[in-house]
Amino acid sequence: MPSYDVLIIGGGNLGLWTAYHLAKRGVQRIAICERYWAGFGATTRSAGIVRQQGGSETAVKLGKWSRQLYQELGRELGLGSGFVEVGYYVVASTPDERAAFQELVALRQRCGIENVWLEPDELRQRVPFVDWSRYEGATYTPDDGFVYPHIVARNITYAVLRAGVALFEECTVEEIEPLSSGYRVRTTRGTFEAERVVNAAGPRGARRIGALLGIDVPVSAARHQIVSFPERPADLPPAFPMLFVLAKGYYLRPDEQGVLLGMSNPEEQPDPTERFLLEFDWDYFERLRPDWEAAIPALRGLRLGRAWTGSIDYTPDHLPIIDEPRHGFYVLAAGGHGMMWGPALGMKMAELILDERVSELPAEEIRLDRFREPGKVRDAIALPFPTR
Ligand SMILES: Cc1cc2nc3c(=O)[nH]c(=O)nc-3n(C[C@H](O)[C@H](O)[C@H](O)COP(=O)(O)OP(=O)(O)OC[C@H]3O[C@@H](n4cnc5c(N)ncnc54)[C@H](O)[C@@H]3O)c2cc1C
Repeated sequence: MPSYDVLIIGGGNLGLWTAYHLAKRGVQRIAICERYWAGFGATTRSAGIVRQQGGSETAVKLGKWSRQLYQELGRELGLGSGFVEVGYYVVASTPDERAAFQELVALRQRCGIENVWLEPDELRQRVPFVDWSRYEGATYTPDDGFVYPHIVARNITYAVLRAGVALFEECTVEEIEPLSSGYRVRTTRGTFEAERVVNAAGPRGARRIGALLGIDVPVSAARHQIVSFPERPADLPPAFPMLFVLAKGYYLRPDEQGVLLGMSNPEEQPDPTERFLLEFDWDYFERLRPDWEAAIPALRGLRLGRAWTGSIDYTPDHLPIIDEPRHGFYVLAAGGHGMMWGPALGMKMAELILDERVSELPAEEIRLDRFREPGKVRDAIALPFPTR
């Protein structure tokens, strides 16, 4: 029976980066079991926004480290990293948001992020394609950007294969049996043994994999949807900065020669099915359209290129899970931010496995037991995920 030091369930951004960091730190026998293909889950369906402007210490640091790790991996492989730096404006729509955002600037600066608060008058000069009379101001970080998710998936898959990780695709984990030392993992491609098992099964798997060992992993999935406009209107400069209208749950970034717009309906409900691809909600799209067409008039009447949905993961406080709830069994989840945090989450999971601790992140923002007393901290800069 094949036997591994660490077996990772899920070959998405989180599982792949965990394998990469473990291999880098000298772990020899690593396996990844992936139900479909590496990157096939939320990872390659995402918008790829990489934002360091988080709403908590953990969010800010994970964003900062991940941005660096994407770029380092590109250099290590001699390939493009897939990261594009364009800067990001996170827009405050109400006086309450204005006050909260201004407080966050200080937190981000303490974490080493270049972040400023800007008033509408200055924003009119910097970003003239937005109607700033609608807003209270915005925070801005110049070196935020986005990744092209398929390039990220290519790079990290190539890196783990190059490092000798055994990647089993079309390999669904069905049962996990605790042994006196380690675990026996039954899959559709046979049975494996491993000293340690990492649950990185994402929006469509993390909860189920936890349940196999009686562990409650509060990771749910909801619909999130994206459209792209194939042509950039003349009012938007070529590498125009990204924009996040937090109160309305939509954001904008450049996309190839055009524009990408992502949106989440605040009334969306959790989707407990196995599906990654959900129906596109055209009703919601049409209801939200007047808002973004008023905010960015240049988008009015643009033809669509593509429209798709995906199952986005979320946790009750929008923060990640990096924990070992049972000896040798680990849980890693991104709280819906697995593209901006994935590389660093993998690094921190490797740290937990090898050093038995996670440094530099507050325990109350990453451990599973925080959900017993919910509501203490949350990442305030997140899409409007279901609150249940
Ligand atoms: C439309 C959309 C846009 C998004 N935009 C952004 C964004 O701009 N920025 C950002 O940071 N995040 C974004 N996200 C969220 C981000 O994509 C996820 O947080 C991230 O991909 C999660 O990575 P993961 O590895 O945990 O999950 P996944 O990529 O889903 O990987 C988990 C893998 O586990 C596998 N699996 C599940 N069960 C089993 C099993 N039993 N056995 C074996 N394998 C199993 C699945 O097949 C899957 O491939 C977006 C998500 C969506 C859907």
